[in-house]
Parts: sequence; C-alpha cells; structure tokens
Amino acid sequence: MNAMSESKPQLGYIGLGIMGLPMARNLMDAGYPMIVWNRTPGKGQALEQAGAVVADSPADLASRGPDVIFINVTDTPDVEAVLFGEQGMASTAKPGTIIVDHSTISPDRTRDFAERLADQGIAFVDAPVSGGDIGAQQGTLSIMVGGTLNAVEEVMPMLQVVGKRVVHLGEAGLGQACKACNQVAGMVTLLGVCEAMALAKQSGLDLDKMIQVVGGGAAGSWQITNLGPKIAAGDHDPGFMIDLVIKDLAIVLDTAKRAGLPLEGTAHVADLFKQVAAQGGGRLGTQALAKALESAGGFTFHD
Ligand code: NAP
Repeated sequence: MNAMSESKPQLGYIGLGIMGLPMARNLMDAGYPMIVWNRTPGKGQALEQAGAVVADSPADLASRGPDVIFINVTDTPDVEAVLFGEQGMASTAKPGTIIVDHSTISPDRTRDFAERLADQGIAFVDAPVSGGDIGAQQGTLSIMVGGTLNAVEEVMPMLQVVGKRVVHLGEAGLGQACKACNQVAGMVTLLGVCEAMALAKQSGLDLDKMIQVVGGGAAGSWQITNLGPKIAAGDHDPGFMIDLVIKDLAIVLDTAKRAGLPLEGTAHVADLFKQVAAQGGGRLGTQALAKALESAGGFTFHD
C-alpha cells in the first residue's frame, strides 16, 4: 500500500445509513478521497456534492482500486452479499486491499470472511462501534477492533478520525465478540433503567429529578443519562432501532449458546424487545423498551 505512505490513501465506503453517512463524511472532512456505494441510490448525493465519486456496485467500487474499503450495512448476510455476492467486492478488489467492517455481525462468520479474503491477499478488519448516531456524527465512537496487527496499524489513523476510543482486541472476530459483550451490558442496563423508572413513577417521584441524582451516583450509565430523559418525555425516535438490537441480541445469544453460557438477563430483555416489535415498534429507538413495562404495569411514563 505505497500510496498510503506518500499521500492520503483512497477510501471506499459501502452503506450510507444512519451510521455510515456521517462516518464517511468525517473521513472526507479529514482529507481522505472517497468512492461510495449505497444499495438505494441517492443516499450518496450529499457526499457526491462534497467531492466523493459514486460507484455503481460494490464490485465497481473495488475495481477502482481503493486502498481501504469500509462496510457499514445491517446484518451478517448483508456483509456477505457486498463481499461475495454477484456484484461483491471480492471479485474485483486488488491484493493488498484492507476491508474494514463497522457493521455489527456474527463473530464466527467474521472469522470465515477473514479467512476467505486472506486467500486472495485481502485483509479483513472487524471494527464494530458503540456510541450511537450522535457518536457517529461527532466522531466520538468506541471502536472494537479485530484483525492482523499490520492491517490494524494501517487503518488506525482512519479509525481515530471516526472514534474517540479505539482498542485492538486481537485476531479477526474478536472485535465482534467484544461488541456482543457491549450489547449485553448496554441492554441489560437499559432494562434496569426502565424498571427503576417504573418504580419511581409508581412511587410518585419526579422522573427527571430521579434521573439526575441516580445518574450521578453508582447507578450512573450512558443509558440512564441519554435515554432516561427520552423515556420520561415519551420520545421514542431512533438513534438505535429495536429491529437492530433484536438482530444484535440474536448474535449474542447464539454466541453464548455455543459457549454453553446461559445469559438469562439478556434472553429476557431480548424477549421484551420482541414484544415491542410485535406491537409495531421495531423501528422505534431502544428506549421504547419502556413500552413493555408500561403494558405489563398498566401505566405510562409520560402523562
Ligand atoms: P441503517 O440506517 O438501517 O443503514 C443500513 C445500511 O445498510 C443502509 O445503507 C442499507 O442500504 C445498507 N444495507 C442493508 N442491507 C444491505 C444489503 N443486503 N446490501 C447492501 N446494502 C445493504 O442502519 P445503521 O443504524 O446505520 O446501522 C448500520 C450498522 O451499524 C448495523 O450493523 C448496526 O447494528 C450498527 N450500529 C448501529 C448503531 C446505531 O445507533 N444506529 C450503533 C452501533 C452500531 P439501503 O439504504 O439500501 O437500505
């Protein structure tokens, strides 16, 4: 990757959704030349106006020879499609390319993808993120990285543009394994926040004051500080959609099952998210978990 030592490397970006669009923009703002592709045409328009080249397909994007290609799509089969599908990148990417996957997908399949690509001389780095749409916009994400040391060192300057805390955990798949742990801690905590707020509500407490004081003590968390006020206000707009967290918790529970580990708290919160989705809430934000408690308790957080 000689170009990288002389000038900014050429980047490619696949998947311009809630996360991918602002992350690609932050890389462009940092001076990286960019080629983009999104399945639904038009989502790259703003980046095109800012100087990005829009490709016709993942294969077309990779054939233009970018040094590093980022993926930010929904689920494991979607990553597989943009890598190995009919118009996938693996058919045209040059040896020496590094592919960085920011999607949250299966750790086991990530290892398979890395092995298949390594046979072609292509490095695959898993780099799932935490920090939500706001972290993506502000470039303050936590990034959990798996892959070979050489490849990770090459892409570290780019990861540090989009993230504030970037940690290399080891070989391919370990970034996704860490993201699974992140989802256990985050979503079981969110259930605790909802239960605490339900008790507060039924005890006649002012929810905002309760969030303020509890959030500043040993029970403080990102969830209570950022999502608690939204629950109190009945604001269920996504940042992070329930359909996506159901996908993530299925990955977590599958990984735990293979490890012979019963994660009962995680299984319970996954069931509650599915209840909310079954009532039409799949595209609401994760804070709409509160609706499951409202249904069970016969009250509403927001009068
Ligand atoms: P999103 O807004 O729904 O965007 C998903 C993107 O993936 C869109 O560009 C979509 O293209 C593309 N895509 C999906 N399936 C595809 C396929 N088969 N082929 C090609 N493109 C495909 O989702 P997001 O919130 O940006 O999430 C992206 C990833 O980040 C997910 O893995 C998610 O779990 C993870 N994540 C999200 C957050 C968050 O707060 N939102 C936080 C951490 C991690 P179209 O435009 O054509 O639909």
